[in-house]
Amino acid sequence: MKRCPHPPLLQVMTSEKKKKQSGVLRLRENGVVSLRVKAVAGLLSAEQLETLARTARDYGLGEVCTTARLNLEIPGVARADVADASKALYEAGLVLGSTGPAVRSVVACKGTVCRHGCCDTFALSRALEETEGGRPLPRKLKIAIAGCPNNCARVQLNDIGFMGHRFPRFDAEACTRCGACEKVCREGAITVTDDEIVFSPERCIGCGDCISTCPADAISIAYEGLSLYLGGRAGREIRLGTEVPGLVAEADVPHVTERIITYFAEHAHDGERFVQMMDRIGEETVLRELGLDA
Ligand code: SF4
Ligand code: SF4
Ligand code: SF4
Repeated sequence: MKRCPHPPLLQVMTSEKKKKQSGVLRLRENGVVSLRVKAVAGLLSAEQLETLARTARDYGLGEVCTTARLNLEIPGVARADVADASKALYEAGLVLGSTGPAVRSVVACKGTVCRHGCCDTFALSRALEETEGGRPLPRKLKIAIAGCPNNCARVQLNDIGFMGHRFPRFDAEACTRCGACEKVCREGAITVTDDEIVFSPERCIGCGDCISTCPADAISIAYEGLSLYLGGRAGREIRLGTEVPGLVAEADVPHVTERIITYFAEHAHDGERFVQMMDRIGEETVLRELGLDA
């Protein structure tokens, strides 16, 4: 199993400079913490789940709780037991993290297996975790990936959000005028008559549902990719991310993300979220300097 390239807890703990331990959260009670375990793409093996359960029993309260970003936490661990507990987790390929000023756990919906999915969300999430997961930054940075416009991952509320799309092309010759595509299109972008199919591109949001529905293979993919949103945040202040023009090809997501994060690392002031940096520098300037303005 590949592991996060950024320092795991054990290394952080043995560092001379140790101040904050990534993945260790204070609780109300003094001397007791919660251990945050990263579940890349929300997936853990059965063996890892067994280790998680055993560690929760041996060192915690015998409970594991989920977080909004697909992490799992073991609450109630005595500070004195953190090293032993994290060692047990690390040996099973489980890494603590997703705290502090760094790239937080990537949230991805189950688009890889979902019937609506327009991209491989699990693979994208793993790729981003491998290259960017835990990267130290001036402030936390959140990434989310949704497989389609149903947007189960709420991508606009993240610093970087991706959403998969597939746009249709119709083959009038192959069409049997069954009307299934018109029924499935919730945007009303398709009208089927006895003579023709009328498609309204301005209504189409690229969900791809008509493509997978057509029983006659009369609808193919005209083009596909992921829309990109920058500068969203939730919590005490809520901002929706700005939609970047065009679509990012699935294969380009890792290097586009790396470019955006490097820009943030180089331009953000300490304590600034992406949107605050964008407000200070100017949205147009940021997009232009990132090569994302067209
Ligand atoms: S966003 Fe789309 S692909 Fe992802 S889980 Fe929801 S419906 Fe499925
Ligand atoms: S679902 Fe396919 S076959 Fe049926 S009307 Fe639409 S394009 Fe034609
Ligand atoms: S891709 Fe989705 S929105 Fe576009 S025409 Fe097909 S069903 Fe409608």
